[in-house]
Amino acid sequence: MINAADVVVIGGGVIGCSTAYNLAKLGAGKVVVIEKGYLASGATGRCGAGMRMQWGTETNCLLSRESVKMLSNLPERLDVNVDIEFTQNGYLLLAYGDKMEDQFKKNLTLQHSLGIPSRWVTPQEALEIVPFLNTKDMRGATYCAEDGHCNPFKVTEAYAQAAKNLQVEIYTDTEVEGIVTKNGQILSVRTNKGDIHTNTVVNAAGGYAKTVGRMAGIELPIFPERHEILVTEPVDPTMGPMVMSFYHNLYCQQSPHGSFIMGIGHPNEPEGFDIRSSWQFLRDMANRLVDILPPLAGLNVIRQWAGLYDMCPDRTPILGNSPQLKQFYTAAGFSGHGFMISPITGQLMAEMILGKPTTFPIQMFDAGRFERGELFVEPSVV
Ligand SMILES: Cc1cc2nc3c(=O)[nH]c(=O)nc-3n(C[C@H](O)[C@H](O)[C@H](O)COP(=O)(O)OP(=O)(O)OC[C@H]3O[C@@H](n4cnc5c(N)ncnc54)[C@H](O)[C@@H]3O)c2cc1C
Repeated sequence: MINAADVVVIGGGVIGCSTAYNLAKLGAGKVVVIEKGYLASGATGRCGAGMRMQWGTETNCLLSRESVKMLSNLPERLDVNVDIEFTQNGYLLLAYGDKMEDQFKKNLTLQHSLGIPSRWVTPQEALEIVPFLNTKDMRGATYCAEDGHCNPFKVTEAYAQAAKNLQVEIYTDTEVEGIVTKNGQILSVRTNKGDIHTNTVVNAAGGYAKTVGRMAGIELPIFPERHEILVTEPVDPTMGPMVMSFYHNLYCQQSPHGSFIMGIGHPNEPEGFDIRSSWQFLRDMANRLVDILPPLAGLNVIRQWAGLYDMCPDRTPILGNSPQLKQFYTAAGFSGHGFMISPITGQLMAEMILGKPTTFPIQMFDAGRFERGELFVEPSVV
């Protein structure tokens, strides 16, 4: 294993690989990625893989708008031959009650000001998009035809291949066990396969970002939370868009090969690293889903799994360095939407680390915003 690098990226998920590629492209010198499992073995490979531009904060709208643009021709941009299965089937976000209708309409105004082609649809119009939707009590919905999904393994592979083409070294099955520091400087990264001398580290460890932060003596307000998903048997294509309901706290989409993939958020899920599947999820998911998509009641479930959201208190990532350890950078806290913003995130991280002007302002994503009380609370999440 290499014993010195200009930058060590901890975590071989989509964020680590995107950041490593962008660092190498912008001339960071020797860049190394350390992954304790295989690439995309964390949240990335366990995610719903949806991408949407319909958000309630300007920051998320901008990050996702830019990323969707980049994903639309990612293999060409990266000069790799990987089909990332980029699909724009739309997202239909269902609105219930006065408060949600008002919020959604505010979101639309914001989205339109940023050029995002979303629109309000009546329950009748929603039925034209998803004919078997139960529209009872629904006020309407917002719809953006340019939202969609990609294959998260393939997107990660595309970035990893492009990074390797720029001489980035990627070590899988290698775990970071410590970070050696002295007088506010990083000296090396300790792994179970040897030490790497470096003075710059990127913490892209997803649900383990807090653990990795502590290795460097940095306390991050990020915590892991289990989220579960299930998949049904495949059937003929019947539903185009991702259907999302914040009222039911669920999302559901039909994949290109016909299976329905769905998940819910649990308000009482405890913080922790548990990624076992539970029968309670199966029961709750099924109960809530058939309320809005009744014909799916007859489908058999064929697979279930769970992964970790890396939660941040305002559901917006921390992208920045630490005042106590300036060369320790964090890109984590994505709270359930890191996959869809990974292209621009990797670029912004690389620009920041190399002291270049960033494509978008990024300084407000630092961890210091919690002390300053300058949060970006995202209302539109499951
Ligand atoms: C069920 C579920 C559904 C989701 N749905 C969506 C969605 O539809 N759309 C969307 O945009 N996002 C979604 N997300 C969120 C998305 O998956 C994440 O935000 C994104 O994948 C984060 O990428 P990452 O690279 O930061 O983290 P990860 O993919 O978790 O990568 C971190 C990596 O760090 C490695 N690591 C940790 N500690 C160490 C160590 N000490 N040494 C070496 N390696 C280490 C881990 O093994 C892991 O591979 C979902 C997440 C889950 C769990």
